[in-house]
Amino acid sequence: MSLQTKFQVVDGELIGARQIASTNFNQRPENTEIQLLVIHNISLPPSQFGGGYIEQFFQNQLDWSVHPYFKTIEGMQVSAHLLILRTGEVLQFVNFKNRAWHAGRSSYLAKVECNDYSIGIELEGSDDTDFEEVQYQALSNVVATLQEAYPKIGPHLAGHSDIAPGRKTDPGPHFQWQYFREMLKNQKNETL
Ligand SMILES: [Zn+2]
Repeated sequence: MSLQTKFQVVDGELIGARQIASTNFNQRPENTEIQLLVIHNISLPPSQFGGGYIEQFFQNQLDWSVHPYFKTIEGMQVSAHLLILRTGEVLQFVNFKNRAWHAGRSSYLAKVECNDYSIGIELEGSDDTDFEEVQYQALSNVVATLQEAYPKIGPHLAGHSDIAPGRKTDPGPHFQWQYFREMLKNQKNETL
């Protein structure tokens, strides 16, 4: 019944998420502990939701001829561990033990190459649209689960724009950090 028991991490897999395999990953460097969560937004085409194009993109199955914007990302091989759709559904593309390709050139607290030691979470959204309530609920639920599974994450939650300033703007001005943090805090209080 309760939200906080909805997800569980088993062997790097998020139980409760729909699993879709992406080949866009490699191994994390040896002895690298997960210690950061990176929050992104993505929509394909930009600011359009649904359609399944993000899923296709992360699986290298996007038909670049479908939309002019797709031409601009043709051949890019990227992924995130998780994608939270507008419906609140959570998809997993890469096992947490592996290194997904979401952050690019980046650094957090002077430690570069965030892909090595982070989990990437994409919210289906854009820099010019509010996120859905169900997305905040799913996100806080998932983040609480990940913080428990990977204690080194602790308070280390960053936006892509925080770790790649000047280069990336997501999750953007419509992502309400304060609201999200409150929800996360309440989530944890409920589990006590
Ligand atoms: Zn991003």
